[in-house]
Formats: sequence, C-alpha cells, structure tokens
Amino acid sequence: MKPVIVVHGGAWAIPDAFAEASVAGVKAAAQAGSEVLKRGGSALDTVEVAVRTMEDDPVFDAGHGAVLNADGEVELDAIIMEGKTLAAGAVSSVRNIANPVSLARAVMEKTDHIMLTGHGANLFAESIGVPILMPDALVTKEERKEWEHYKKYIVGVKELFNSQWGHDTVGAVALDSFGNVACATSTGGIRNKMVGRVGDSPIIGSGGYADNKSGAVSCTGHGESILKVTLARLILFHMDQGRTASEAAECSLQYMGERVQGGGGVIVVSPTGDWTATFTTERMAWAAMDGNLLYYGLNPKENIKETLN
Ligand code: ASP
Repeated sequence: MKPVIVVHGGAWAIPDAFAEASVAGVKAAAQAGSEVLKRGGSALDTVEVAVRTMEDDPVFDAGHGAVLNADGEVELDAIIMEGKTLAAGAVSSVRNIANPVSLARAVMEKTDHIMLTGHGANLFAESIGVPILMPDALVTKEERKEWEHYKKYIVGVKELFNSQWGHDTVGAVALDSFGNVACATSTGGIRNKMVGRVGDSPIIGSGGYADNKSGAVSCTGHGESILKVTLARLILFHMDQGRTASEAAECSLQYMGERVQGGGGVIVVSPTGDWTATFTTERMAWAAMDGNLLYYGLNPKENIKETLN
C-alpha cells in the first residue's frame, strides 16, 4: 500500500497576512507526518505527529495560538481515531495543555472511555504526567489583541459568530503501508465562544472519523453546522455508496450548505489511497504527501505540486 498523508489548517476567510505562514505550516506538518510513514510508522502515529506540529505553530487555532473564549481563556478540543479497531480518544474544553491531540490519544489508550472534558480531562493529564502550562502560556499577543478588538466592537451574538466562525482548526488523515487509516483534529474553537462551548472537532463522526472499511476524514468550519449533519460520517457514508473521496466531500459539503447554511472544509483519504482536500469557505490551507509528491493549496481549485527528493 502506498502511504498518504493529508493535513488542513482550517477553513475560513484566511486573511492575506496569515496566508503564507498558514501554507508553510501545513506543508511542514505534511512533511513531518510523511517522515513517520516513510519509516514504516502507523497512520495513528502519523496523524498525531502532523497535528502536534500544527498545535505548536502559533499561526493555527490549536494548542499554541488558540483563540480565546468569552472570558478571554483558551479552551481546547481534540480527537484522534484509528480505522483498524475504531478506537478513539477525545478531549474537550481542556486548559493549558500544549498538545491536546496527544492527551486525546492517552484517553484512547489509557482509559476505558472515549472522551474526557474540562476539569476531569485536566486531572487525567496531571495524573499521567502531562505538563499543565501556566495560564496564558498558549495565548499569543496577536490573539489577545484580536479578542479585545472583537469584545469592544462586535456586540451582537449573531454578528460576532458570523464574523468569526471557522478559525484555523488543524487536522490530519493518513493511510499507512499496512492499509490502516487514522484521523486527528485539534482546535481552540471559535473566538468569543461561550465558556464550555464544544464544537464538532472532538465529536466522533462530526469533526473526524476513521474506519479501515471506508476511509478517514477530518473536518473544519462552522462547528454547529458540522455537528448537525455529522459531516465526517456523512462523507464516509457516500464513499461506502461508491463515490470517490472528492465526490463524497463535495456532495456532503453542498448538503451542509443547503440544509443548515454552514460552510467548512474537509480532508479525506480512502483505504486505497484516493484522497481530497475540499472546502466551501473562501480559503483552506491544506497539504498532502503522496509518495515523493507534495501537493498544497489555499484558494479554491488551487493544487500546487512539488517533487521532493
Ligand atoms: N470547527 C471548529 C469549531 O467549530 C472551528 C474551525 O474548524 O475552525 O470549533
């Protein structure tokens, strides 16, 4: 089986000021994941490494650089899932954890549960020796400034929500040389979200899903819309019906747009290595490594190809 990794850095109207850094970030993540695949590593290790790379990159709304909630604090959500066994782990509303995707993996591997939330997730992190950072350690100066700007100038909840949904969530899907698929998604959510709001990202079947029988998906975009249509599973349902990754992604995103007026983006890989990065927002930074070929894009229909040695 020829291994493949696809990553995204969030679907939204990425301003020009962030464009270059977002593309550089997804390319670096795809390459980091690809190194794992080349060494014969698992799809699960691959998606974890790729997502950690983006959590550590402050340009993305995940880990370091996450957006702030209505109280000006970071609350992070993440999921990881492996297609061989359908094992999954997730965390929601965790605070001051640098790499929520790895905490999600620990939930999957070290507990009898699938998701831990808030205080309990933080207690679990402490109990297994995951460092709890100082408050604000993950907050960038730019995000604090943006948050203050929105607090001051955007008052209506609807206006506030519409202006900011979809904000640089990160995700990865991979197929390894043994034919196993996996997915991971990690986010700070939406700026000024209510304290305790959980979006689609850590919810199995919505923000991500992986099944060796169908494929793996990671989603980004308006969380409440993605939840309503269980976007990741919807895409895999269409693939089970015989659609290609890109047909399934397109018709599912179109359905979400028509049915609940939500926009977003997805990355998908099938068990045979058919993959896509598709979105209905203005932009989505994405990259893929398929053999020695690196593909990436930011604008609709953009698909740039580079051969790496
Ligand atoms: N889906 C994420 C959420 O609603 C946001 C995003 O993808 O940008 O929390």
